[in-house]
Amino acid sequence: MAFLVKKYGGTSVGSVERIRHVAQSIKQAKESGDDVVVVVSAMSGETNRLVAMAREVMPAVVDVRELDVLLSTGEQVTIALLSMALKELGVDARSYTGAQVRMLTDSSHSKARILDIDTDRIMGDINEGRVVVVAGFQGVDEDGNITTLGRGGSDTSAVALAAALKCDECQIFTDVDGVYTTDPRVESRARRLERITFEEMLEMASLGSKVLQIRAVEFAGKYNVPLRVLSSFKPGEGTLITYDDEENNMEQALVSGIAFNRDEAQITVTGVADQPGTAYAILGPISELNVEVDMIIQNIGEDDTTDFTFTVHRDEYQRVIDYLKANNEKLGAKSITGDDRMAKLSIVGVGMRSHAGIASRMFKSLADAGINMRLISTSEIKISVVIDEKYLELGVRALHEEFELAE
Ligand code: ASP
Ligand code: MG
Repeated sequence: MAFLVKKYGGTSVGSVERIRHVAQSIKQAKESGDDVVVVVSAMSGETNRLVAMAREVMPAVVDVRELDVLLSTGEQVTIALLSMALKELGVDARSYTGAQVRMLTDSSHSKARILDIDTDRIMGDINEGRVVVVAGFQGVDEDGNITTLGRGGSDTSAVALAAALKCDECQIFTDVDGVYTTDPRVESRARRLERITFEEMLEMASLGSKVLQIRAVEFAGKYNVPLRVLSSFKPGEGTLITYDDEENNMEQALVSGIAFNRDEAQITVTGVADQPGTAYAILGPISELNVEVDMIIQNIGEDDTTDFTFTVHRDEYQRVIDYLKANNEKLGAKSITGDDRMAKLSIVGVGMRSHAGIASRMFKSLADAGINMRLISTSEIKISVVIDEKYLELGVRALHEEFELAE
């Protein structure tokens, strides 16, 4: 007996047959005594299809207010179909759009933030024994305009609902059966984690394991909503994401997972003046180009000059190099070079906080594999290195082995 939010992503409701399958599992949960609020995405591919149509009609700049009206229809289809499928199975259900619930958001179309959720209507239905089916990804602003929360936003809708309704757990059903120690496509011995902390999940998610929307994990951490990632196709316990406290009794692994990101590029500016303002002179204009800079390293200067290295997304590489070269008169760099075939490889784990020597184990393991590290950065629960992309798979497997993450 629990009060649960169950969120089903696009592939889980990608066809009528799958919607029926989802209805069947909700029926089972209901029969076992759980109260259930369901949040659904649009059928897979639907949001992209709608975006493409909008672009066809308005090729230059799409009107964001109207775009939100359009995109919200994807989820409206799935809430109705799922409620019908539930009723067909004899389960009393009722669907609501974001506006009908009153998921109040700000007015930033296509990236709205949830401000408040009216829980009265939902609780009324729950108390009547109904399953409530809510459209993810959408809300309504003060003036009644339909808004959307940004791509992948139904995870956030689900977590926000679970927080507002004080549910026992927010279950995110997707096409993978949990969070893994690393990408199983790279290391076939990767293992599903039973538990992981919000902090670790954020590091894993931001480093490219795209299981959950980052905003949803932040939200869950902030409001302490236990999150569970499960497969809608394969039964199992999934992965529970919670706080690392005594109650949750985390298995004390030093390293919980190996995360990586292929799309990195490295840029090095040599021989710039070693004086106040140099970093700003290089990075200020880059941020004005709207390019996100990730790792930054500056060498100890020699002869009043210094070298400066940083990473950007591979897609931005040429633009940044061109910009720096075009403006080198001001910078006065001796050389501006780089490499756009880099990858970032990281170990993540709250266990690092209380243990020394983890970094050197990581470095030794990469050295033994013959992998050269170009940049290193550390935080409390993460160590990242930048390496040549061609060694990424090798590096992932070496670290997975070193930190004993396999089954
Ligand atoms: N349907 C929306 C999207 O494709 C929201 C979601 O799936 O979470 O981005
Ligand atoms: Mg989705």
